[in-house]
Amino acid sequence: MIVPAPDTRRKRRRMVSSQLVARGINAPRVLATMAWVPREWFLPPHLCDEAYDDAPLPIGSGQTISQPYVVALMTEHLAPRRTDRILEIGTGSGYQTAILARLANGGQVFTIERLPDLLIEAEERFRRLGGGLTNIQTRLGDGAAGWPEEAPFDGIVVTAAAPRVPEPLVAQLAPGGRLVIPVGDLTAQELVILERPPHGQGQLQQRQAGGVRFVPLISRHAFSEDR
Ligand code: SAH
Repeated sequence: MIVPAPDTRRKRRRMVSSQLVARGINAPRVLATMAWVPREWFLPPHLCDEAYDDAPLPIGSGQTISQPYVVALMTEHLAPRRTDRILEIGTGSGYQTAILARLANGGQVFTIERLPDLLIEAEERFRRLGGGLTNIQTRLGDGAAGWPEEAPFDGIVVTAAAPRVPEPLVAQLAPGGRLVIPVGDLTAQELVILERPPHGQGQLQQRQAGGVRFVPLISRHAFSEDR
């Protein structure tokens, strides 16, 4: 088990109180997990000093690691239980994946990324972090199509922006499950939460959780590559 260095642990605690608790994140397991996962591991080496800044940061290939607050907000709405099966679309650096894997440590996290270079780097981080995060399965491809062979999922989180909720993801949501996705245009989106009620208890519920800004989901179900 690799123990994160104490100095970054202090920075993380400060990040949790000043960026997360101060803005209303209060799920204890989410806060504890964000205080554990070292964000610097998920960054290019020259950006490590900025790991606890209140901002998204570039991770290469034109993509970004989300702002810590946005990761916490999405995770709080997803509300993963220990034994849940979670699907994440947009592995990117793997930071959000690692947080989900710790929270669902008696379950499984399935994560899909379309850019091979980013996925390879993220997989290496999963192998090294905390002696290995063994409950993560990765796939290269279009995540908007979901992962039908492993469906249904108790939680689905999309960490890229879509013009509408991709239908395949809705279809792969288990009864009682939640889907968290930024929906909007290329410049601004609203965080949308869809909840499928437990068996036989009515229609999908939808609510919104504030404005966000994500890189686009590139897919025939979302935005095209040549914008
Ligand atoms: N959760 C990530 C955020 C990464 S940014 C993190 O914490 O670092 C969004 C990612 O979604 C990018 O890596 C981008 O390549 C990926 N992406 C975009 N469209 C996709 C698609 N259709 N399927 C899978 N991944 C996609």
